[in-house]
Amino acid sequence: MIGDIRKVTAKITERFKHRFYGRTFQCPVCHLELALVDVNGNRLLVCPVCGVVLDVEEVYGHAVPVVLDVELHRPQPKMRIHPLATHLPIGLYPFAVLGAVLLLIASILEPMMPGLAPFLDRAPVLADTTLVLLVLSVGFSVVTFFSGLRDWFRRYRRRPYAQIRLKIAFSLIFLMLGGLAIALHASGAAFSAGTGLVDLGSPLALMLAVVELVALGAGMVVIATLGHVGGTLVFGR
Ligand SMILES: [Zn+2]
Repeated sequence: MIGDIRKVTAKITERFKHRFYGRTFQCPVCHLELALVDVNGNRLLVCPVCGVVLDVEEVYGHAVPVVLDVELHRPQPKMRIHPLATHLPIGLYPFAVLGAVLLLIASILEPMMPGLAPFLDRAPVLADTTLVLLVLSVGFSVVTFFSGLRDWFRRYRRRPYAQIRLKIAFSLIFLMLGGLAIALHASGAAFSAGTGLVDLGSPLALMLAVVELVALGAGMVVIATLGHVGGTLVFGR
């Protein structure tokens, strides 16, 4: 089951990556996929993972990277705040999504199954927990975002990398989607503040709940892509 989900997200991630990266080649040392567009005017590029300086020549339409040198004196932060800071959003966000999905399912089942009443009494607690998880994961992702930017400034000397551009764009999209979901959830317009459930009699409440779930689902794809691309910047491939 988890393997299937991973396969689906990997496919979606792959599509986003190719749109962002354009033509690519692999670092001959660590095998990281690098975008040809990041090669500078002198046809040089420093691999962000292993630090080799590559001269990338185009031979009959093939990109041929040749190792010229190694960047030995690269800033190595002792406290790796960014990789640490990714854990809180990635760990908590899926549970917030699960909470919202359970609340929607409970709202649909409520009129059909009167026996659920004792469980549904706890729905407001689940709704509040979902909000707390959302605020924590999206709120802390601001720290993750800025620590990542700082690493790019220092460790990678603000060099252009398709991976970093993708990560900045997706981080901003994640913050917007997360902000939208928090606003909808906190307002009580989608999931009622009193019962914690969606009032299915109100088309507006139902529509807002669907918008919240779509935003949460899209946020899952975005955060999975951010984690995947971040992983390649640590492990190469
Ligand atoms: Zn490399």
